[in-house]
Amino acid sequence: MGRFAPSPTGPLHLGSLYTALASYLDARRRNGRWLLRIDDLDTPRNMPGAAERIMDCLAAFGLHWDGEADFQSRHALQYQQAITDLKQRDLLYSCSCSRSLLAEAGPIYPGYCRTRHYPTDQPAALRVKTSPAEIEFVDGLQGIIRENIGERHGDFIILRKDRIVAYQLAVVVDDYRQGITHVVRGCDLLDSTPKQIYLQKLLGYPVPEYLHLPIIVDRAGQKLSKQSRAEAVAATSANQTLFMLLSLLGQNPPPTLKQAEISAILDWAVAHWVPERLSGIRSVGIDTP
Ligand code: GLU
Repeated sequence: MGRFAPSPTGPLHLGSLYTALASYLDARRRNGRWLLRIDDLDTPRNMPGAAERIMDCLAAFGLHWDGEADFQSRHALQYQQAITDLKQRDLLYSCSCSRSLLAEAGPIYPGYCRTRHYPTDQPAALRVKTSPAEIEFVDGLQGIIRENIGERHGDFIILRKDRIVAYQLAVVVDDYRQGITHVVRGCDLLDSTPKQIYLQKLLGYPVPEYLHLPIIVDRAGQKLSKQSRAEAVAATSANQTLFMLLSLLGQNPPPTLKQAEISAILDWAVAHWVPERLSGIRSVGIDTP
């Protein structure tokens, strides 16, 4: 079971379509289901209408998902249950450290609030206690990743100060409740994976297989992203765009496929999907204006 999980912060750009295509091909190659999940928990970043635009775009490229699209915002109860479970096992603590204190402390939280035994009326986030546990997994493209979670990340946030469930916890609960067995996504999230595996182990969830794709970068070496105002993909000449994305995925599509119907291109791509051609590659460049 695979999935594509865009955040509805804007329309799909080439980089996100690249990830969508790869996760689709990977799931279909395994004769598996491919789900669409709209990661809409981070409400301040959501853009009205983006979810619909994303769905229209996927459909225009022939990337049809199985069942209804899932929306994180409809699953508040499940996130709460996971939080309660962790809380009851004394694995969480609230942290009211200010932004300036955190900035001073550096990238790894030194655990100031871990030993604070008095309540606070300041807005507080929830952090999960980490230990010097080694997390190890074999990524489908990036090989063995081994990290000491406590040293590398420290106690990380699972519920934000603004009461929004943090991405790390939400994605773990979502992948579990949806029965996801294969996660295909961009390398920009590779750093999050050990944290997610740590949570999966605490919660007793199975660990899916991971495959982290190269990210697409522009001429200046910048990741294409909504923040960098990467252009929305146009559905015109969808077949040529698909052909180009397959080339960027290292799949060497035959030139005759360039003018073929979308469905024929996708059939070819599913039948010939060999992600290993991207082994060890963290970024691929594209010529953007
Ligand atoms: N919603 C996340 C994003 O758009 C992706 C989550 C994931 O694939 O785990 O970056």
